Amino acid sequence: MDKLYARISKSTKHVLYQYMKDNNISLLNYSFNYFFQYCIQKYQIQVISHHFSNHKIEGLTVVDELGTSFSYERDNLKVKQNFTLCHELGHFILKHNGNYFAESIDNQENLIEREANIFSAVVLMPDIVLLSKIYYSCDTFQQVQNSLEVSKQALFFRLLDLLREYHSDNDSEIKQAVETYIEGKNAPIFRLFHNIKERIIEEFHQFQPSLINQVKQRVSKVGFATSLEYPDLLNQDNWTAIKEKSVNFKIWLIYNKGKSIAYVWDKEKISDKEARKKAELQLLLM
Ligand SMILES: [Zn+2]
Repeated sequence: MDKLYARISKSTKHVLYQYMKDNNISLLNYSFNYFFQYCIQKYQIQVISHHFSNHKIEGLTVVDELGTSFSYERDNLKVKQNFTLCHELGHFILKHNGNYFAESIDNQENLIEREANIFSAVVLMPDIVLLSKIYYSCDTFQQVQNSLEVSKQALFFRLLDLLREYHSDNDSEIKQAVETYIEGKNAPIFRLFHNIKERIIEEFHQFQPSLINQVKQRVSKVGFATSLEYPDLLNQDNWTAIKEKSVNFKIWLIYNKGKSIAYVWDKEKISDKEARKKAELQLLLM
C-alpha cells in the first residue's frame, strides 16, 4: 500500500474521529459539513466563492494579515465544491507551509496537493461511515454517493484506496468488487469489508470523548451531572473549560464529613436550588 495514503489517512482520522466522538456524530447520517463548519468556526476561516473563466482555478487558500480564507469556483458542481473545500481545509489542518494555495488541473501531482486530496477524500468518506453504509446498512453505490454528496469518481477511487490499505495483495479482486458494486451487486464488496470490519471499528473506538465533551453531552441532555459519574470534575482546573462550553452551564462543589461532590447544571433546565438539592442528596447517599 501507498505509504503516503496510509500516513495521511491516519492523521486525518485522528482529528476527524476525535471530533465525531466528542460530538456524538451519527454514522448513518454523516455529513462532512459538520466537521467542516466546526473547523471554520474554530479557526475563524472565511469561505467565499469566486469565478475564473474556464474554471481555471477550482479552489484557493489565502493566508494574509486579515486571516485565512478559502474560496471555491461558484460554477462548479456541488460535489466538486465539497471536494475542493475539504482539500483547502486539508492544507490548513495538515499545516502545509505557505500563504497561498491554488488548485488547478496542472498541480495535482505535487506532494502537498496529493496530501490535501487524501485528507479531503477521508473527511468526505470516512472508513467507519463507508463500513456502516455499505456493509451494515446495505446501501447501494448510488445511495452512498448521494448521501455523502460526492462524485461517482471520488467514491470509486476512495473505495479502491480504502480496500487497498487493508488488502494490499489483491488489487484485481478489489477493482472488480468495486466495479460490480457500482453495477448493483454487493456480494464481492461485502466479502472484502467482512474481513476488515473489526479493524475499522477498533480504530474508531480508540477515540473517546474528552471529559469536557462527555460532561457537555450529558448536561445538554439531562441538565445535570456530578463528579460521581465524572470524577475529574473534582479537579477545578477543568472548570473553566466546562463553563466555556455554554453560557448556561454552572458548576459548584459541596462537601460534608470529608466527602465532596462537584456538580454541573444547565441553569435554563434546572434552578440553582434544585441542582444543589440533587447534589446534596447524592452526597448523603455516598
Ligand atoms: Zn491544494
